[in-house]
Formats: sequence, structure tokens, C-alpha cells
Amino acid sequence: MADKKKTCSFCGRDEKETLILIAGIDGYICESCTDQATNIIEEELSAKGSTEEDVNIPENLTPIDIKNYLDQYVIGQGDAKKYLSVAVYNHYKRLRQKNNVDVEIEKSNIVFVGQTGTGKTLLAKSIAKFLQVPFAIVDATVFTEAGYVGEDVESMLSRLLQACDYNVKAAQKGIVYIDEIDKIARKNDNPSITRDVSGEGVQQSLLKMLEGTEVNVPPHGGRKHPEQKMIKVDTRNILFICGGAFDGIEKIIARRLNTQVIGYSNIDASEKIDEDNMLQYINQQDLKRFGLIPELIGRLPVLTHLDPLDIETLARILVEPKNSLVKQYQKLFELEGIRLNFTKEAIQEIAIKALDFKIGARGLRSICEAVLTDAMYELPSASDIEEFTVDVALVNEKIAKSNLRKLKAA
Ligand code: ADP
Repeated sequence: MADKKKTCSFCGRDEKETLILIAGIDGYICESCTDQATNIIEEELSAKGSTEEDVNIPENLTPIDIKNYLDQYVIGQGDAKKYLSVAVYNHYKRLRQKNNVDVEIEKSNIVFVGQTGTGKTLLAKSIAKFLQVPFAIVDATVFTEAGYVGEDVESMLSRLLQACDYNVKAAQKGIVYIDEIDKIARKNDNPSITRDVSGEGVQQSLLKMLEGTEVNVPPHGGRKHPEQKMIKVDTRNILFICGGAFDGIEKIIARRLNTQVIGYSNIDASEKIDEDNMLQYINQQDLKRFGLIPELIGRLPVLTHLDPLDIETLARILVEPKNSLVKQYQKLFELEGIRLNFTKEAIQEIAIKALDFKIGARGLRSICEAVLTDAMYELPSASDIEEFTVDVALVNEKIAKSNLRKLKAA
């Protein structure tokens, strides 16, 4: 008997026209119908979705618990961790709040100010991991006002959706880290700019999203496929964390502090200002002077700073985090049956080099690579070695031979 022709029971396409045809008890379904069905289910669920039921954060979690978790991954940055822990704690308390209450708690979006490579992204990433919520990192510099070449701000939500396989409900509780927020500052003092396409306009277009609104998001980002179906994402419960180095803001802070001291002579002049770390005195006024519009600052109510990394912190970063570089290299060597040791002085020397070369924490890895590459190249073929120790002499010898030494002159 000839086989009955197989067709999708939903769209009627013939087996030959489909990529996959899944058999059921009484019929078949093709890949595009399963896709569509998934979308319909997601839309229905997110339309029905109530926020308070599915917050997967333990009820009895405290800000101190959050900070303790962050301590495992991020070294130092006590202030930033504390602010972040409280903001996140309040954010999820707000999510649990039943609807129609008398006092509506506003969102606690955050802005981190700190030099590059001091742990801003790492903090945002770690908190998302802790909360097990979708997380996306976007760069503010790629955004332009709608209608100009570049990405619309909505595209950040496409990234968030991609991060959770288009689970709209999950995305709506996610975290977006917007890097380089300082790069979209208004550039009023630059007379050559006639139309501020990438600055104030972008800030304006961020406002609604940060506050909470329903955004139609192109599923694959960009505007190249106008015919594609949009996904509706509600940003009311998405936590936005912005970060930036705000180069030069120290001067703005210093100016403000000076005028304050002159203006209010009763301020204790002996209260010495720590000029090596001016960012610790930052406030919203400084962001405004830097070129963020007041409306944007208002939607980023939690402002905190990251400290510059000193030698001691860099040395701790090498050793202490749960997945620190030292632990990673030790694991790699252990897989070869070799015990890898670093002397305390060698760790210190690597930290000094990172500071010297001005490559910060991000550069620790390239220094370690320079120090260990020869060993990682030779040791696997040497059968009798069970232990390898990195000391100051080895660090200096390998760095002297590497390209990194050129950074010193720069
Ligand atoms: P940025 O402040 O520019 O966002 P990142 O968070 O991306 O910096 O830091 C770059 C890398 O440097 C991180 O992936 C991490 O390995 C390391 N790092 C920076 N600061 C710290 C810190 N405080 N504790 C632990 N690691 C850090």
C-alpha cells in the first residue's frame, strides 16, 4: 500500500516544503507552525502575566546577602556594592508589591561612575547571575535618535530577548547594562556640532524606556526588516544599570567642592579632600554639568562610584575572586599534573606592572599570559615536572621579553 502523503496539519504544507515535520498521534506539525505556536503562547502568557507571582528571588534575602555574594566576584568597591545591593533589593521588593497599593515605589535604576576596568560591568554581570535573570550589555555609543543611521534604543531589548530565548516574561524582569553612558552627554561647549544626533536626542529617547513603557521590539534588532512581527516588551520592571568613566568629571567635582568651601566657610576646612579619588564625592549636579539632561538623571536615582584600583586591590583581584586568574591557571596546570605556585612577591609584581602599564585589571590577564606562555608551551612535553613556581625574577624576565614592555614607554 502506498504511503499516505504527509502534510502539516496546521498550515497544510507538504513534507517536501518543510524542514522538519513532527508527527503527532493524529497529524503533523512543521517547524514554522511550532514557531508561531510558541510566539502565540508567549504573547498570551505575557498578557496574562502578573508580576508578583513569579519573582524567583528568595523572600528572606537581605541586602547583606546580596553584597556577600558580590564579594566573591568583585574585589573592593564597597560603596558600589552596597548601593547596588540595596537598589536590587528594593527593586525586587517593588516587583513583589501587589497592584493597586497606595504608595507606588519607583524604579531604582543605577548609574556607576568609575574609570574603565574597575569592575562596573562585572558588578552588573554578577548581580544578574545571582538573581538568575536575563542580562544584556549594550553600548550607548551605538545608539542614535530614531531616523538616523545607527541603532534605535529599542534594540537593547532585542538583546535582552535574545539572552533568554525570547521569553518575554523573563526579559521583562531582566537587567540591562548600558555601558559608556557618558558618551551620550550633551556637547554644548563644542561649537562645531550643529545637530546633536548622538547626544541629547539619544538621552531623550532613553527616558521612557528607563521609566517603564511598552516598547515594540524588532525580534532581531535593527530596522532592516520592516515587515517582521514586533514583540511587545514592558520595561516597567527591567532594571537598568548605566556605567561610564565620565572622563574629566573630577574637575567638575573639584570646582563644586571648592565653591562650596568658599561659600560656606563653616565647612570644616580640616576635612581633607582625597584628591586621588574625587569620584567618591560625585553627585547628580556633577552629572548635569557633564552633559546629562536632568530628566535622564532623574530616572537614574541611584548614583554611586567605583574606586580606582591600587596595587593591593589588583593583587587581590589576581587571587581572591571565585574564578580568579591564579585559580584558573592553577587549574590548567593541574590538568597537566603540575602544581602551579605564585610567590606573594610575584603577585605583587604583576599588580605593579598592571598599574605601571596603565592597563588595570583588564591587563592582568595579558601579563599572566606573557609570564606563563613559555611554561604552558614547554611543560606538557616535559614528563618529569610536578611543580612550577612563578617568582619575581620570572615575571621580570618574561615581561622584559614581551611586547608589553613597550607600554611602559607609551
Ligand atoms: P568596566 O569598569 O570598564 O566595566 P569591567 O567590569 O569590564 O570594567 O572589568 C574588566 C575586568 O577586570 C573584569 O572582567 C574583571 O576580570 C577585572 N576586574 C575589574 N575590576 C575588578 C574588581 N573590582 N574585582 C575583580 N575583578 C575586577
